[in-house]
Amino acid sequence: MAGNITFTMIKPEAMRKGAAGAILKMIQEAGFEIIALKMKQMSTKDAEEFYAVHKDRPFFDGLISFMTSGPIIAAVLKKENAVEDYRKLLGTTNPETADEGTIRKAFATNVTMNAAHGSDSDDNAAIETAFHFDKNEIIE
Ligand code: UDP
Ligand code: MG
Repeated sequence: MAGNITFTMIKPEAMRKGAAGAILKMIQEAGFEIIALKMKQMSTKDAEEFYAVHKDRPFFDGLISFMTSGPIIAAVLKKENAVEDYRKLLGTTNPETADEGTIRKAFATNVTMNAAHGSDSDDNAAIETAFHFDKNEIIE
């Protein structure tokens, strides 16, 4: 199963814009199968743990307050080469440089409020999936 799942979150600003349905549609039309899905309000502790790798970066505090500013949708996506293919569908971190046809080009507001998250490696996909979902919440 290594290599065929990734983890995504639809971030609070995309939720506020009402873009969740359109983002899930783009995900499915790109050939990903949604094998787990939930809406959730992240606590400050959750967000600090999820983004711990960025704790010394200047944008960390802003990122944590943004990610806790409203609910997110968390999902696990299945497809061959899921991590790399989903990063392509997502577009660059800064939406100013994101290609046409990507989720961030279509729905991001700025580099912080960039519509959605995508895992950056198979290891992190597994860690992030386990952070948000119990085994029995994943339908394969
Ligand atoms: N971020 C930010 N400012 C930056 C870089 C990143 O606010 O200069 C936020 C943004 O929401 C991004 C998240 O921190 O999605 C995690 O950063 P990372 O470099 O891992 O980008 P990603 O993997 O999400 O493209
Ligand atoms: Mg990242």
